Amino acid sequence: MLYYSTRNSKEKVTASQAISHGLAPDGGLYVPESLPQLTLEDIKALGKENYRGRAFGIMKPFLDEFTKPELKAMIARAYGDNFDSDSAAPVHFLDDNTAVLELWHGPTCAFKDMALQMLPHLLTASLKKCGEKRKVCILVATSGDTGKAALEGFADVENTKILVFYPHNGVSDVQQLQMVTQTGENVGVAAVRGNFDDAQTGVKQIFGDREFAEKLSEKGWFLSSANSINWGRLLPQIVYYFSAYCDYANSGKVSCGDTVDFVVPTGNFGNILACWYAKNMGLPVGKLICASNQNNVLADFFAHGVYDRNRTFHTTISPSMDILVSSNLERLLYSVCKNDREVAAYMDELAKTGRYEVSDAIKAVINEHFVGGYCSDDDTKAAINKVYTENGYLMDTHTAVAYKKLTDYRMDTGRVYPAVVVSTASPYKFCDSVLDALGYGTDAPGTELIEKLSETTKTAIPKPLSGLDKREKRFGLVVDKQDMKSVVADFLNK
Ligand SMILES: *Cc1c(COP(=O)(O)O)cnc(C)c1O
Repeated sequence: MLYYSTRNSKEKVTASQAISHGLAPDGGLYVPESLPQLTLEDIKALGKENYRGRAFGIMKPFLDEFTKPELKAMIARAYGDNFDSDSAAPVHFLDDNTAVLELWHGPTCAFKDMALQMLPHLLTASLKKCGEKRKVCILVATSGDTGKAALEGFADVENTKILVFYPHNGVSDVQQLQMVTQTGENVGVAAVRGNFDDAQTGVKQIFGDREFAEKLSEKGWFLSSANSINWGRLLPQIVYYFSAYCDYANSGKVSCGDTVDFVVPTGNFGNILACWYAKNMGLPVGKLICASNQNNVLADFFAHGVYDRNRTFHTTISPSMDILVSSNLERLLYSVCKNDREVAAYMDELAKTGRYEVSDAIKAVINEHFVGGYCSDDDTKAAINKVYTENGYLMDTHTAVAYKKLTDYRMDTGRVYPAVVVSTASPYKFCDSVLDALGYGTDAPGTELIEKLSETTKTAIPKPLSGLDKREKRFGLVVDKQDMKSVVADFLNK
């Protein structure tokens, strides 16, 4: 399987090159030149396998330069006892027509683990195949969840180091504790005085500093990111859509071949794009419901075919979806129009004016398959409360946005079809908002709220989040933005 950029389909690269590069040189995103096709018989056969077997079946055709044993070994390390469930992505049924796909049984209790437990193995193997002799240092600027998931993914992975910068006083108590107690010989964490933008700008400047890159290179290092636009992060996400469908069919609540809708809480558009690829590979997906919070740029896009980032940014209780530019949408546009020049023109307009309108041909296709929608923080809380009261099931704020949009869609259409709500975080990751939604006070430090949520709902605290305040705090460095570069240099000299 070869890959090319959404902005230039003439220059093809291998999977290992696409994964090693991350972003294409023209600024576009790598996409596979075709999608493997699965029949219902193939899907039935996948249904008999465990999660690792399903992951192998889905990913192998995309990664034909890797041998079977190579890929199997990577998958075994990525989806093993680092997950607290037999299936890395189990399905929970609220009723016969409503399933919840739980993507938060990994080491950081959020769905980023599904990709970031696999990416380090794919990346190191890809670099080797590309003949790269230097070691890679991953630099991350994080507003919370991604940093921790990347630390867990890269911890003690050979030939790598990872350094994470987060805004000082700009992440939650729990997020900070999760990061500064990270174990592993090759990890580093530093707080930057300033906000997330300062941290991100600092990292971008370091990436753009050629002289610094040469110096590091002489010492045998180069810098890379674990960005969500990397093909190596997207591919592992296709797996769980097939897996959820198999589990639904295995439950007997649908027959293999029946269509199932998926509703996905969306930010950067990576997760729902993986569902779109699954559908195009032959998975019987009905509607893809794209659920946003008050940052409703995607809801407007699916309603009118106009993407317009010129709007107020809202800080919400589903912060991982607080986003104005959904980078992975570029891959959807390419997938629909198959025209690199058209995509390049849209992205050029976006860069210049913050806005673009897609062609009628693209609008027609997305209208057929996608439904967009958004909801307020109050509606999000009401959904958490309702599902807990009626079903005894606890959802986090991001999942609740998706659930709310599913119930709205069912009201609007007057019909109830089998659907899967994609659940992207454990409710324990967003304790304060969840307790608030259930009608309890939240005036206590984050770690106390974790215990309070457990006592109140009689649910167990996920292991990665229990006793956080008792673990050794390994990283206390606080730096100014202009000193970030020397932090990187020191880190690599150790
Ligand atoms: C990252 C994230 C999302 C958004 O996923 P995208 O792939 O960026 O659309 C939703 N929920 C949670 C909890 C996340 O961490």
